[in-house]
Amino acid sequence: LTPLSEHDPALYDIIEREKNRQWRGLELIASENFTSKAVIDCLGSALTNKYAEGMPGARYYGGAEEVDKVEVLCMERALQAYRLKPEEWGVNVQPYSGSPANFAVYTGLLKPHDRIMGLDLPSGGHLTHGFYTYSKKEGTRKAVSATSVYFESLPYRVHPETGLVDYDQLQRDAALFKPALIVCGGSAYSREWDYKRFREIADENGSLLMMDMAHISGLIATEEQGNPFEYCDVVTTTTHKSLRGPRAGMIFYKKDSRDFETKINQAVFPALQGGPHMHQIGGVATQLLEVMTPEFKEYQIQTKKNAAALSDKLTSLGHSIASGGTSNHLILWDLKPHKVTGSKMEKICDACNITLNKNCVPGDRSAITPGGVRIGAPALTTRKFLESDFEAVAVLLDRTVKLAQEIQEKSGPKLKDFQAALIGNPGVKAIKDDVN
Ligand code: PLP
Repeated sequence: LTPLSEHDPALYDIIEREKNRQWRGLELIASENFTSKAVIDCLGSALTNKYAEGMPGARYYGGAEEVDKVEVLCMERALQAYRLKPEEWGVNVQPYSGSPANFAVYTGLLKPHDRIMGLDLPSGGHLTHGFYTYSKKEGTRKAVSATSVYFESLPYRVHPETGLVDYDQLQRDAALFKPALIVCGGSAYSREWDYKRFREIADENGSLLMMDMAHISGLIATEEQGNPFEYCDVVTTTTHKSLRGPRAGMIFYKKDSRDFETKINQAVFPALQGGPHMHQIGGVATQLLEVMTPEFKEYQIQTKKNAAALSDKLTSLGHSIASGGTSNHLILWDLKPHKVTGSKMEKICDACNITLNKNCVPGDRSAITPGGVRIGAPALTTRKFLESDFEAVAVLLDRTVKLAQEIQEKSGPKLKDFQAALIGNPGVKAIKDDVN
């Protein structure tokens, strides 16, 4: 019963510092959030001690009567939160996180080497949607994610000028490639998904349609984004981004004669995972209770307003935002006009206690040298930031990019030299003081 502070002061100290880092600075990573005390209580509870392989009521371990109730509660709330009828949709809440959830769908519904089309990583897709790197010099391509190792993947892209999914090209490519599965959803896409168009393309080719709503699952639960359940066969998600729960994953599947229920449940366990993390499932269950409150809807509305305010302010300061703005919780800021790479912007922001991440923007040729940064509003909106606060953040970011340009002029193009020049720089200190 010794608390961590006494049992392991060194580790306790690191965690306290991390807590301090998260709350002191400006947290703008689009996939991060601050989860509630109730969720943290579940994560640090006795549920973490329990093995419960199998499904509620059919476990491979004894003593599962209480954790059965936890998992059933979580499943019921998950369906309720997305307004799904239990006779039409089922859900598996056991995936350890978003990547295992996606791979479980592929494992359950596809055969090895079946074909998948997902949004390309440099266009804002996720690694688990299939990704290769290409070597022009050697004329080779290398599968980077297990999705492209075990399946054949042909990515679709955003249009380099509009920044929107190039549906016409996807339609042409799908007609030739004949994918078994089309994946919509992404990690860095700031606009609505045209599910109807995706469904049409899937139907033309006899493909299954899966939405990975990881980034926007909070917005979808509160009807602040379009409804993928109307058109998709399967919907996967993480639970820790805009949904603001613990790190975990969920898979929703249509219930019909195709028996996705058995295929997906068996893919999760025993094919890919062992015992479910009951403490995470408890955390998801309690978060889903919050998701169904009017306050959570208000939170999502404010998140969208804040992302729009940030986008508008940066635009008014002369900056270039991919697709001309945002319809959700994030923006992609194209830094190419400033000749500053996303990596340098990420580094200087870190030095100023502003946390964001380098990201490809439409028109980038390679994911290795991203030309911009991704900025999200969910975390700071949890901290009650409003539009005027996000405008102030935009002003700080404007100062930061200008300082990056100045520093780069002296340090030269290498990231290492640029980073060295940040140390002790008075401009960096001034911005950091203002952030703090
Ligand atoms: N899917 C999308 C769209 C994501 O953005 C992410 C993570 O960023 C994942 C899946 C993977 O989630 P995890 O990191 O929990 O495995």
